[in-house]
Amino acid sequence: MKHFWVFLSLATLLFANSFAQKPDKLTSAELFHEIQKLNFLGTALYVAAHPDDENTSLISYLANHDKARTVYISLTRGDGGQNLIGPELRELLGVLRTQELLAARNIDGGEQRFSRANDFGFSKHPKETFKIWDKDKVLADVVWAIRNIQPDVIINRFDHRTPGSTHGHHTASAVLSMEAYDLADNPQAYADQLNSTTTWQPKRVFYNTSWWQYGSQEAFEKVDKSNMVKLDVGTYYPELGLSNNEIAAMARSQHLCQGFGRLTDRGSDNEYIELLKGDMPKNHDVFEGINTTWSRVKGGEAVGEILYEIEENFDFQDPSKHITDLVKAYQQLQKVEDEHWKTLKSQELKNIIQAAAGLYLEASSSSASATPGSKATITIETINRTSPSVTLKEIDIVGVDAHLTPNKILEDNQRENFEISFTVPQNTSYTSPYWLNEPGTLGTYTVKDQTLIGKPETPSAFKAIFTLVIDGVEIPFEKEVVHRYSKPDKGEQYEPFAILPEVTSTIDEKVLIFANADTKEVQVKIRSGKNDVSGMVELDHPNGWTVSPSSIPFSIAQKGEEISVSFNVSPPNTESEGKIAPRIKMGNKVFDKELVEIDYDHIPKQSVLLPSEAKVVRMDIKKSGEHIAYIMGAGDMVPESLEQIGYQVHLVDPNDIQDGDLDKYDAVVVGIRAYNVIDALKFKQPVLFDYVKNGGTMIVQYNTAGRWARQFENIAPYEVTLSRDRVTDENAEVEILAPNHSLVNYPNTITKKDFDGWVQERGLYFPSEWSSEFTPVLSMKDEGESNKQGGLIVAPYGEGHYIYTGLSFFRELPVGVSGAYKLFANMLSIGKDEVKRDSNVKG
Ligand SMILES: [Zn+2]
Repeated sequence: MKHFWVFLSLATLLFANSFAQKPDKLTSAELFHEIQKLNFLGTALYVAAHPDDENTSLISYLANHDKARTVYISLTRGDGGQNLIGPELRELLGVLRTQELLAARNIDGGEQRFSRANDFGFSKHPKETFKIWDKDKVLADVVWAIRNIQPDVIINRFDHRTPGSTHGHHTASAVLSMEAYDLADNPQAYADQLNSTTTWQPKRVFYNTSWWQYGSQEAFEKVDKSNMVKLDVGTYYPELGLSNNEIAAMARSQHLCQGFGRLTDRGSDNEYIELLKGDMPKNHDVFEGINTTWSRVKGGEAVGEILYEIEENFDFQDPSKHITDLVKAYQQLQKVEDEHWKTLKSQELKNIIQAAAGLYLEASSSSASATPGSKATITIETINRTSPSVTLKEIDIVGVDAHLTPNKILEDNQRENFEISFTVPQNTSYTSPYWLNEPGTLGTYTVKDQTLIGKPETPSAFKAIFTLVIDGVEIPFEKEVVHRYSKPDKGEQYEPFAILPEVTSTIDEKVLIFANADTKEVQVKIRSGKNDVSGMVELDHPNGWTVSPSSIPFSIAQKGEEISVSFNVSPPNTESEGKIAPRIKMGNKVFDKELVEIDYDHIPKQSVLLPSEAKVVRMDIKKSGEHIAYIMGAGDMVPESLEQIGYQVHLVDPNDIQDGDLDKYDAVVVGIRAYNVIDALKFKQPVLFDYVKNGGTMIVQYNTAGRWARQFENIAPYEVTLSRDRVTDENAEVEILAPNHSLVNYPNTITKKDFDGWVQERGLYFPSEWSSEFTPVLSMKDEGESNKQGGLIVAPYGEGHYIYTGLSFFRELPVGVSGAYKLFANMLSIGKDEVKRDSNVKG
């Protein structure tokens, strides 16, 4: 219980960043901490590639010990990873991870930024990364971040000098940071940015080194550290009741979809940063020699005079005693010409004034969402919970004609409620992550509005401005319009107020495989964003395909209700692929978006609008056999995919397999990483091998090898050594080594063309050595590497066949890659050739 309280209290540390989360209500100790931060005018930028790369200990240290504005720029949003807590993958995972980063920063006191770079998957070398990202665009974004954030110091998570030693994205982030450090101050570089920002030269750039760079703690102890700054990130903050590393662990534990829930750390703990450019600071202070006082800003000294005095004599029992001076400082700050510091510090100061006065200001929509053209009703709550004189002059909803002028004194602890209604303008943008609004490339998102680039999320559709007069000074307070409601099982909830289309549609199955000319029934779900909608729905389809009926009328009475209609989709006789897409016509409007909601307890609810569509693939695919046993490993979608081409797949629990059980199956397929995660397989190998000996087919998909992998001695009936060989270029040329082997001939003829259109990679953890019984069927390689022949190896064993494959079928089948299906069908069909051609023939 105590831990829970600490968590909530700490979540209030940073309030500049939070979007539609619970409003921050500071204790006087936290308020004092914020005043200290207000009086520190220094900025640090931390640079890495992915959500979870960041060193939360160091970010928290800079934000809470140094009290610097600390920004983490993660070049990507982490779309390429796995998700431990739900179904979101790719762009939806990027949305979830963006919010997890914001939740982490909300705790460690940092801020969050991004670039347009997309996490397209594993990359061995920054050269490949730069080719796919479009280096110039991402470099422009890092320069843009430096010019806007104006950091005094930059800290790279990764070493720019060691390409190939880690994920290519990692090294690339450091390389870009180094180049941007040199470019940001050059007015010739990305000159168009200078219409809305200015040049900037940071003073120092560091690399956040670690003992693991040197192999061991002992080796690191011996390293010359004269160019390193040592920071004790285990320091304790009495005003927060927490060690820095306790805050860092809580922040890190927000990365739940990556399984980063952590124990907290306490005690002294040194972190090292190595100077790369700039002068070496003294006294292990990264800001040493940089003016971080109010005197760095022209006209700032007068502000500082008032604020340092408050810090010196802070009244913990009654912070409201400082309001008069805080307001004076605010007034003084408005005279400062430097827009950068004026904007930043005015916002901080307003938050502090609000907290010191116990002011609560809220604009809450009565419903969670509205559609353009509909009416929105906003409830305003204002309360002043201290005695100083506060007058509520006016309330404005920005961008619409909605305005109240109460001109009312807010009496101590007397709540005032108001209501404002307005029509949502027809041209209001929908609430959806801005970087997904336009189709991007494999490497970068398309963002047309330069001012949005780098922002963690789409600015909210509506904001309320409360103009208060405090001690005779007019101060505008800006609040996003939220939706506040209660849930019986969860209590009070805050959500973003979303602007959504009148109707959205979904086809649940995103890839439909037509293995023959049969018609399939396709269901389209239609969901209403307002009451009483009606119209017609059609299904766009590729040339040569037919859909009936051509349109279906529908009507929905209630907002939020979902109905379902179905179309018959018939493929052409020849191979073809394309998209089917529902188009809903209502009057002269057409709606073609799918709404995906992402809703977890640790992040604000997200509404994501994507094109509503599904991929359809007609493949001319031949197969033998019918019943497949599947042993699930770490989890994949291969069984569903095989069912799409007409196999009956039976999930088999390896614990239950007895001798002879498998004989009824045409093949046994082992899912990805099964030998890494299922202990029982070790003991069931003899049963599986007996099945092969008696004429069965066994197909084993990739298992990991290396330092952390559980080593497995008898993965195959003959010697096989797994390795960390992988081919990450999904377009790497594939050579057929054994052109006469049945795997590339029966029942489907496999040619080089069948390796077109693969996604993310060719495969991973290929065997590097195998005994002479095996035939390697394919050869491929990444640029600059040797040929890898272990992607698909096959051996006869007794009457049957054993196949090991590191090819990424688990990625290719779910997205409908036709060549991957044909090759998989051939693996399942091996030995079932009626003509009984010699499937064992070599090359
Ligand atoms: Zn990473």
